[in-house]
Amino acid sequence: MRDCIFCKIVAGEIPSQKIYEDDDVMAFYDIHPKADVHFLVIPKKHIPTYMDVEEQDLPLMGKIHSTVQKLARELELKGFRVINNCGKEGGQEVFHIHFHVLSGGKLGTPGQG
Ligand code: AMP
Ligand code: ZN
Repeated sequence: MRDCIFCKIVAGEIPSQKIYEDDDVMAFYDIHPKADVHFLVIPKKHIPTYMDVEEQDLPLMGKIHSTVQKLARELELKGFRVINNCGKEGGQEVFHIHFHVLSGGKLGTPGQG
């Protein structure tokens, strides 16, 4: 999609610190890390938000999560958090669905303290 920053990363038009790529999925480090390890896992397909995922996209969503698992294993993360911000009010700034994976440092825990 034109004017989508993550589509441009997928197309190689904007550089990224790529960790993983296959036909469907890509993972790269967040440019403004919020933890010791902070990367994003995205589908190559342009889906704007979590609420735009359709039934036909469910295998792709599964693949995103198995990619998170694979990278957590490869990077030897001791523990991590997966976050999706959905919609402007949910804190989403880039409207190409992505899952943040955060690990290490002081992650605040929602609901605790
Ligand atoms: P969100 O607020 O959930 O939409 O998160 C968007 C994330 O994308 C933010 O954490 C940004 O730091 C990150 N980001 C924006 N542009 C880039 C880029 N060119 N490369 C890597 N991460 C980016
Ligand atoms: Zn896009």
